[in-house]
Amino acid sequence: MEHNAIIYATYAFYAFLAAVGLCAGSFFNVMIWRIPRGKSIAWPPSHCPKCGKNIKAYDNIPVVSYLILGGKCRNCKARIPITYPIVEFLTAAILITAWTLLNMNTTLRQISAWYDAVIPILRVISIIMLIPMAVIDIRHYIIPNRFTLTLLGLAVALSLIPGNLSIAESLLGVLAGAGPLLGLGILGTYLFKKGDAMGMGDVKLMAALGALWGAQTVLIGMAFGALLGSIAGGILILSKKINDEHRIPFGPFLGAGTVVAIFVGDPLWQWYLRMFYY
Ligand SMILES: [Zn+2]
Repeated sequence: MEHNAIIYATYAFYAFLAAVGLCAGSFFNVMIWRIPRGKSIAWPPSHCPKCGKNIKAYDNIPVVSYLILGGKCRNCKARIPITYPIVEFLTAAILITAWTLLNMNTTLRQISAWYDAVIPILRVISIIMLIPMAVIDIRHYIIPNRFTLTLLGLAVALSLIPGNLSIAESLLGVLAGAGPLLGLGILGTYLFKKGDAMGMGDVKLMAALGALWGAQTVLIGMAFGALLGSIAGGILILSKKINDEHRIPFGPFLGAGTVVAIFVGDPLWQWYLRMFYY
């Protein structure tokens, strides 16, 4: 292919990825609103929660419609929360970042079997799914089972595809993901006589992420998550936004920490090991 043609094809592909990310983010907004309320995500079609009027397709374009409508429902002028375009934008940004950092383009160029195309897609889905999960955890302090079960299902599907983690590696990942949190939870319950110190949702989340990405990634991810959670908790307490009575959901930090570990865990781990050799 001519050089320019390759550049244009790359731009076009990234524009396509951005569009896919924005649409996925729009669907995540539906999940974020409906799943904690026990509503179907398939039916009814998108409507304004205030006036109930169905949202026309041309008013449902991710980010763009929010800007055109000035953040208000066309019918009743109720405010559309800013979190809607933020989730859409964030999903597209993380999708493109994951695609690039995980070298999915290279993987796709070297397709030699049908599953070479399936692996990158399943991996990226398992990463962007953490966005609606995190928002639901922040708002409702729950990690719905359908997120952790879907992640586990993706892990099982990937372990059946050649060139991925073996089933033994996935099981080791489950132990590495769930074990420390379960241990901490049992210790916390014993020490503070307070049940539910560590939510089972967090344990299930890390078990599923361990099955997907393996023991090393999930252990580094947990360390990052604890670090991010402590920093955020410290800032919130110091700025008097919360006090000791408040709960801080741990799921978003565990998810974010694991994503960081997926992206940079390996080079970081090598760097850490080298410190002991020199
Ligand atoms: Zn309305």
